[in-house]
Amino acid sequence: MNKVNVLGINFNNFTLEEFKKEFIHRLNNHRSTLIVTANPEIVMATKNDSEYFKIIKEDADYVTADGIGILLAAKMQKQSLKERVTGYDLFTWLLRIANLRGLKIYLVGAKAEVLEKTKQKIAQKYPNIKIVGAEDGYFKEDLKTVANRIEKAKPDLVFAALGFPRQEKLLAILRKQKLPALMMGVGGSFDVFSGVVKRAPKKFQQMHLEWFYRLITNPTRLKRMLVLPKFVVEVEKKQLAVKKGKR
Ligand code: UDP
Repeated sequence: MNKVNVLGINFNNFTLEEFKKEFIHRLNNHRSTLIVTANPEIVMATKNDSEYFKIIKEDADYVTADGIGILLAAKMQKQSLKERVTGYDLFTWLLRIANLRGLKIYLVGAKAEVLEKTKQKIAQKYPNIKIVGAEDGYFKEDLKTVANRIEKAKPDLVFAALGFPRQEKLLAILRKQKLPALMMGVGGSFDVFSGVVKRAPKKFQQMHLEWFYRLITNPTRLKRMLVLPKFVVEVEKKQLAVKKGKR
């Protein structure tokens, strides 16, 4: 099966390699493409935000399962998603592709000093990339104004690190304007890439405990994570409703 529905969101059931093939194909054809890497927090956020729900449901071209919670939810529904595909892994891979092809990228998001470090590291590690725009994520302008600025720069790739749902709301404007670029919300990826925030050690990643590492290194995330048990309850409720319907 190509898609797995978790609480109304359709996830593409692809491996990382399969996603990569799709994205290369879209890049080659200059197709306007919105990629959402959705975790349980994002799925739950769509429940109280119809605009956000619509963006992920209708505007996004690809939705990846960015979180073990999504894979577990699929299992609870007796379905399976092939693997977890994170925004950070796609971000670093796309930078390598952009470097190989000398593509133009636009960066929007994170704090000014994080963005500066991100730019420096990209210039040093991926010298063929052309950064056609970079602005931090603490602007006062509305998203439409920022989107128009991005459009004028004609990038091949747009990375928005504003946190959800703002990053997807910004990119959805560009997707509607059919900007011929690959666009993805990357959350805290600039913080990690620039070295300001450490990614969880490999062991934590392999045990699917990245979320736990982030929690112990940044306890202020606890409030955000309280949504996770609610997510499980919602999935269970949905399952019960499906079973009842079948009886
Ligand atoms: N951010 C931003 N503007 C804001 C609020 C947040 O650019 O008004 C940035 C923040 O600096 C960070 C990113 O958005 O770089 C969100 O990171 P977070 O770890 O919350 O995202 P996650 O990866 O958990 O989705």
